Amino acid sequence: MTLGDAMSEDEIGRRLYECIADLYPLCRSLTGEGLRETLRRLQRVVPLTLHEVATGTPVFDWIVPKEWNIRDAWVKNARGARVIDFQRSNLHVVSYSIPVRRRMSLAELRPHLHTLPDRPEWIPYRASFYNETWGFCLSQRELDAMADGEYEVCIDASLEVGSLTYGEYYLPGESTSEILISCHVCHPSLANDNLSGIAVAAALGRHLSGLSRRHSYRFLFLPGTIGPIVWLARNEALVPRIQHGLVLVCLGDSGPLTYKKSRRGDAVIDRAAAHVLKYAGDHAVEEFSPYGYAERQYCSPGFNLPVGRLSRTPHGRFPEYHTSADNLDFVRPEHLAGSFKACLATLDVLENDRTYINMNPKGEPQLGKYGLYADIGVDEMAMLWVLNLSDGRYSLLDIAERAGLRFEAIRAAADRLREHSLLKEVP
Ligand code: ZN
Repeated sequence: MTLGDAMSEDEIGRRLYECIADLYPLCRSLTGEGLRETLRRLQRVVPLTLHEVATGTPVFDWIVPKEWNIRDAWVKNARGARVIDFQRSNLHVVSYSIPVRRRMSLAELRPHLHTLPDRPEWIPYRASFYNETWGFCLSQRELDAMADGEYEVCIDASLEVGSLTYGEYYLPGESTSEILISCHVCHPSLANDNLSGIAVAAALGRHLSGLSRRHSYRFLFLPGTIGPIVWLARNEALVPRIQHGLVLVCLGDSGPLTYKKSRRGDAVIDRAAAHVLKYAGDHAVEEFSPYGYAERQYCSPGFNLPVGRLSRTPHGRFPEYHTSADNLDFVRPEHLAGSFKACLATLDVLENDRTYINMNPKGEPQLGKYGLYADIGVDEMAMLWVLNLSDGRYSLLDIAERAGLRFEAIRAAADRLREHSLLKEVP
């Protein structure tokens, strides 16, 4: 079965965009109700299990932090008008701010205000997860409009003992070997950075649940850094099952698809993703670096998992990154659909990469005798490559790479040859 069959690209793009638009207003963070509500809404797409891990739980070198929740926040001027208002944008509050309620001069308030002078209309996104402080983010234009004088400052938040939440969806296949799909869920109203990956991961889970699968799949929706560390610490016994993995992030912008290789650099996922992107038009394949998202943890030396990362424009390389401009206008249904398709095509290679033995290896088989020359839609060169390299050592992906042909063509040729008993699968 081909995973991408019978899919309307318009329809999938529309669904992915709707998922993002639904989750966009929620104030997600490392922990708390915004994150929980995000995962609960995703349960409409896939039956995620929500896990709660108590504050203070040690996980490798880290400790699960306190739970942060926010109800409201504002800065009011002398006339009582909200000049900064959390209700208008959740980016206005530095994520994980401690509660504050006091009056202060603009000069006292100023060190707690963050702007982007180069982009005077945009609000920056800031977080302070492991250093207890507070602050507001606002546009430079809004700051410039704030007169000297006294302001009333309120952050109605709590930072207390609670738990960290993450979502997990396990989809069993014929074998227990697993493909891991991971995304981060800890950013507030940012569409490309976090929501695009979340939407694509959930949609993949839903799509794959309706198909027969050789591999098992594990979808993880985790807060950044601490999330994958928590999962790895709690599931170390399962880790050896992970045969391939993808971190999904920043998949809705107009940039070219970009694959970042695993630390290993030559894992099957690295080759499968590079192969798919090669035929997907404008793209980039980048080497591993110990920075980025959850791949930092999956590819730490104690695990060294074959996990790569798929993005369009990588984080930090688009001006809208971590600002209010990473909004619902910045991500487009057609880019989301293209990313989804690339994921499916990569998974399709992993599902169908097999190794065969040519049952007639002495000289070429006489293809005409089997009616294979007349076969419309089966590439003769692909058949010759499969027959020649199927000596039990080369998989179909190896053959596609060496032949310079698409995996689908190699696979279709192998299917036809197998039907005529010219190939036998190596278990
Ligand atoms: Zn980010």
